[in-house]
Amino acid sequence: MKKYIIATIGSHSALQILKGAKDEGFKTLLFTTKEREDFYRRFSFIDNIKTFSTYDELSKFKNKNIIIIPHGSFIKNHLPLPYFGNKKVLDFEADRNLQYKWLSQAKLNLPKQYQLTDKGINFPIIIKSHGAAGGKGYFIANNYQEMSEKLSKFSSEYIIQEYIVGVTFYFHYFYSNLTNKLEIMSMDRRYETNIDGLSRMPINVDPSFVVVGNSPLVLRESLLPEVMDMGERTVNVSKKVISPDGLYGPFCLETIITQDQKIYVIEISARIVAGTNLYINGSPYSWLNYNEPMSTGRRVAREIKLAIKNNKLDLII
Ligand code: AMP
Repeated sequence: MKKYIIATIGSHSALQILKGAKDEGFKTLLFTTKEREDFYRRFSFIDNIKTFSTYDELSKFKNKNIIIIPHGSFIKNHLPLPYFGNKKVLDFEADRNLQYKWLSQAKLNLPKQYQLTDKGINFPIIIKSHGAAGGKGYFIANNYQEMSEKLSKFSSEYIIQEYIVGVTFYFHYFYSNLTNKLEIMSMDRRYETNIDGLSRMPINVDPSFVVVGNSPLVLRESLLPEVMDMGERTVNVSKKVISPDGLYGPFCLETIITQDQKIYVIEISARIVAGTNLYINGSPYSWLNYNEPMSTGRRVAREIKLAIKNNKLDLII
């Protein structure tokens, strides 16, 4: 194990990932831009820092002992280093139509999708551009006319979804393809401006959905078995649609729960999500499985450790 170095890029959940790697006994390495170098040097669990200005520069680090852990800030850049996770899953995550097929085969409740030609729309819908980061650029329309007016000013690709009225819940899972076990690591809700501020001021403004933070949450226990099942079905179907390996490692089902307790999945993230940063010291749920603080970042490092011990690194990298 001593020869392996766990690395990531300085943003998103890098601190959690490298702290977890250090706690599991790995050497750690951070790639970062020059401006952030001083900030990251403050943390003693980061053994080595390399600065870069473009992703291309990273191609010179061809070291098969460096295992890179992807996160939300660089998932689409294919680095020339051994990488934890299944890269094929990224194509399914990035393409909303492929994602929709996968999740509907997993029999998850999904918001209905509409076309620009659906003239009968007389209820709230949300228009989401492809590849939008952090809910930026989404908007709402209440009927067909409003939707067509707003879309006439819109140039990028988008999908039109039924607007689900309820509360957001983001479930963080970890699936081990070494032990075939799924765990619920933690959960959060994203704090989005201005939608989460509108109840404080009853005025009529267009809502926006830009993520600015995350808050901790626990779920009503009677809903937990269903959330576990939803994760199981997502993993099982991924083995067929993204065969043979499917989805493994950390992932998140992003949901909205309605007043009749129906859980709608609005999106999947097939990697560590930033909401797990709430639980660098473990969550109430990870505490049920581990008698020690277990963040998602640390869980990733533990998986790599298990693979090294059993000579199965090629199954997860
Ligand atoms: P997403 O990028 O799909 O995770 O969506 C970002 C945010 O937009 C979510 O956290 C919700 O607040 C909101 N949102 C997305 N899809 C829907 C939907 N179908 N109904 C209601 N709100 C939604």
